[in-house]
Formats: sequence, structure tokens, C-alpha cells
Amino acid sequence: MQTDIEIKKGQLIEIKQINKHVFHLKIQSDDFTEMEYVPGFTLNIYLGNCENTTDLESRKYSIWNYEPIHQIIDVAICTFSKGKGANWVKTLKSGNTLYFNPPRGKLIIDNSADYYYLIGDITSLSHLYEINRNLSIDKKVFSFIYAHNQRDIFPDIDGSFPFDYYVISPLIPEVVKQKINALEPHFDGEGIAYILGEPKTVIALHEHFKNKKEWDIKKLRSKPFWKEIKSCF
Ligand SMILES: Cc1cc2nc3c(=O)[nH]c(=O)nc-3n(C[C@H](O)[C@H](O)[C@H](O)COP(=O)(O)OP(=O)(O)OC[C@H]3O[C@@H](n4cnc5c(N)ncnc54)[C@H](O)[C@@H]3O)c2cc1C
Repeated sequence: MQTDIEIKKGQLIEIKQINKHVFHLKIQSDDFTEMEYVPGFTLNIYLGNCENTTDLESRKYSIWNYEPIHQIIDVAICTFSKGKGANWVKTLKSGNTLYFNPPRGKLIIDNSADYYYLIGDITSLSHLYEINRNLSIDKKVFSFIYAHNQRDIFPDIDGSFPFDYYVISPLIPEVVKQKINALEPHFDGEGIAYILGEPKTVIALHEHFKNKKEWDIKKLRSKPFWKEIKSCF
């Protein structure tokens, strides 16, 4: 039951499949005026109609962009999982009503550092684009986006490709770690690292930054974007 959680609704004004595994949604809601938007917020969307069903599942999707004049949020929903959210997005059409909780988040922008590491997979790409676009221009950025396939990489909302992208297939966290070690530049000052996306890679990189590179964990914004299915064996 979600009785104590506030549920808002909005209209899906556009849905576009931008590549084999990614859908771009534009959602309009007058309720968005109530939020004090911070880049890095996520939208917890219910996978169906909350007015018909009380125990609907929901999924978190990163806000790729917020346009406050017309109150429009962009999200990019990936279908790599073939899971419930992935199947649900394929059923949507523009004009549909969507239900969600008021947007919020922990992986929000923090402009206090001198330089940034933005590391993630395709599922976290929209989140990293939004952080990157909202960093002040004097900040230095080292980016590392890993994908299974070149064609999974999509541009930012403005059509740009501001990051460095790498095809790593099969995805082996140790390989990601080694490539980052080989490529990372020397930056002066304080850094913050956003490490998002595929769980095993996030965990391996978080441990590496904490233990080997001796980063203060307060500077690590690490988040696995989904849970692996637990095997019974
Ligand atoms: C802070 C945060 C922000 C997020 N932002 C986004 C976003 O902007 N766009 C987005 O698409 N998702 C995002 N996610 C992930 C999203 O909430 C779902 O967990 C994910 O999309 C899978 O949901 P599903 O219902 O499709 O699959 P589920 O039915 O939940 O999962 C089925 C199984 O598929 C596997 N799996 C799940 N996701 C993936 C994946 N991406 N690639 C490969 N295998 C996977 C896992 O083994 C999982 O157990 C975010 C998650 C968090 C925590």
C-alpha cells in the first residue's frame, strides 16, 4: 500500500524511441511547479494507473532535463533489463496519464569541487548529462561512459556528445578500472566522483576509489542503479 506517499500525475506529451534500447519521454505536469528542482533529482514513476490499482510497482528514472516555464521533465528509459519497467514503457503512447511521487533525490549536483569524475553506463547517462550541463563552466571533468555497443550511446538533450564513451563487451569491472587508471588526468584541488549504473562496476570502482586511491567517501557519489536477480543456488 502507498497510502502515506503523495502521488502526483502528469501527461506524457511525447515518447520517442531514440535507439534500440532507449525511450525518450517528455512529461508535463502543473504539479512540477511545487518542486524546488535540483539537477540530479529522480522521478519515481508508477508502472500503470494509480487510480485503478493500489499496489502498483514503481521505478526510479533520472530527470534528464527540467523546463520550468511549461513544467516539462525529460527522462530516458532503458529496456536492457527486459523487466517490468522496460516492458511498461513499450506500451506507452503520447497523451497517457503518468503517476509519480514528487521528484527528489540524493545524487544531486554539488558544485563545491574543483573537478569531477562522471562515470557510468547507458542507464545512468541521462543523469550524468544533467549533472554535467549544470556544473559551472570553470569545472574540470573526466568522463568515462561504458556501453556494450556503440549504437546504445545517445546524445545529450541538446544533441551534443560531451563525454568520452567506451565500448566494453563483455563488461568486466576490472577492465573498466584499468582503463580509468590509464586515462585519468591529474587535476589540482578537490574532486567529486559520480559513479553510477551497472551494480558490479559501481561497487568495484567505489572500493577502488576508497581503498586504493584513498578518496574521502564523502566525495564519492556511488549508486548501483538496479539489483541483480538473486540466484537460488
Ligand atoms: C537513482 C536511480 C536512477 C535511475 N535512473 C534511471 C534512468 O534514468 N533510466 C533507466 O532506464 N533506469 C534508471 N534507473 C533504474 C530503474 O529504476 C530500474 O531499476 C531499471 O530500469 C530496471 O527496471 P525494470 O523494471 O526494467 O527491470 P526489473 O524487473 O526491475 O529488473 C529485472 C532484472 O534485469 C536486470 N537489470 C535491471 N536493469 C538493468 C539494466 N539497466 N541493464 C541490464 N540489466 C538490468 C537485473 O538483473 C534485474 O534484476 C535508476 C535507478 C536509480 C536507483
